Amino acid sequence: MEDLVKELKELEELVIKCMKCGTCQAHCPLYKKDFFEQSVARGKISMIESVYEGNLKDASRILKYIDYCLMCGRCKNNCPSGVKTDEIFLRAKSALRKVEKLPSWGKFVLKIVMEKPELLSRISPLMHIGLKFGSKQVKDDVFKPLFGLYSRNVASFAKKSFCDDYAGFHQAENEKFCVIFYPGCAVNYMYKHWGETIVKLLKKLNVSVYVPDVNKCCGIPAATLGDMELYAKMVDENRRLFKSLDAGYVITCCPTCSYGLFDMGETVAHETFDKKEMDILVFLKEVIGLSPKQLTLEKTSLHIPCHYNHSKDALLKNFITDISENYYELKDQSCCGFGGTFNLKNYDSSKNIVKNKTAEVREEKVKKLFTPCPGCAMQLTDGIIREGGEADVLHPVELIYRGLIDSDVSEDKTEEN
Ligand code: SF4
Ligand code: SF4
Repeated sequence: MEDLVKELKELEELVIKCMKCGTCQAHCPLYKKDFFEQSVARGKISMIESVYEGNLKDASRILKYIDYCLMCGRCKNNCPSGVKTDEIFLRAKSALRKVEKLPSWGKFVLKIVMEKPELLSRISPLMHIGLKFGSKQVKDDVFKPLFGLYSRNVASFAKKSFCDDYAGFHQAENEKFCVIFYPGCAVNYMYKHWGETIVKLLKKLNVSVYVPDVNKCCGIPAATLGDMELYAKMVDENRRLFKSLDAGYVITCCPTCSYGLFDMGETVAHETFDKKEMDILVFLKEVIGLSPKQLTLEKTSLHIPCHYNHSKDALLKNFITDISENYYELKDQSCCGFGGTFNLKNYDSSKNIVKNKTAEVREEKVKKLFTPCPGCAMQLTDGIIREGGEADVLHPVELIYRGLIDSDVSEDKTEEN
């Protein structure tokens, strides 16, 4: 216990910046839902202080409150004092995990996802078959398992992972740039078509692409479960791989992976990093200078992920309005409530957070909802189906590719498959 108090005391430098103004309340999706002070950043920070100031003897009691967090970063992004709430929560959780051990399901998930990505690749076909036969199909590529998973609607698993099919170097004919594409776990196993589209699109735009042989998780699930050492190991391994390849950019299509490997990753990495990291849409706009073609689409809308680089929100919105003139701006701009492992641990809370947004999508008869994050896509799809909405959830690259190279699409499919 003494060590734990000492470790939490090391956070004082970060914690002391919180002036308890309560601004974070207005931005916290959990506080907006249940109005508990312990849900919001201020409450969590006060509990950490209470432990190292000696006012709370049984420190393990606070873990469940620190852990009850989407790690959406909205408190940090809106804090007038610049309190690094994400770093405080992750480090506090890691310290508290030393007294309150991770449950066995958590250890199992980490073992497979982080330490045995090859094994995960091998069991992917089984997941694919299991989902097809143990579930009811509720939409294209979306299934409702007949048991377990709290009957949520889940996106299908690919028969073969994206890395299994696309690993290696994809040389563009007239190479202007060379990039490494990091798919992340969700694209590797579930949203494989996003990865395929990105590789094809980049090649068409004269960009050569490296795809890793095996997708190594960005480590964020380990961090959110309180294993900061494993998280740092994953960050180092990935960054070492990127450094070994001769390319100027690392392209991501999951804002949480990007946050895990580069934003928060910077604070845990043991080595410096010399390549530019960019979300695919930012790369298409700012490096390639792409102007997507307008398509005739039914009503479209956009969900901006919490971990998206918010200085690029306007770029993202412009992409969607450029593609579709029939754009509806959602009134509900809040977090979708997914939060990675939060959704697994607190499904009831998670699904209640997305409800408001998906109800708006249904009421406004939105037909295409864009989001550049696979985690948000999973959550929104589940929420829309629950709500009886019709919208398809898509990554913007799917339509950029269709609009830009309409006539080449069938030819590409035969070339790559
Ligand atoms: S975390 Fe920031 S916004 Fe929240 S109470 Fe502290 S200073 Fe205010
Ligand atoms: S990270 Fe999100 S859910 Fe967690 S305290 Fe901050 S605003 Fe609330």
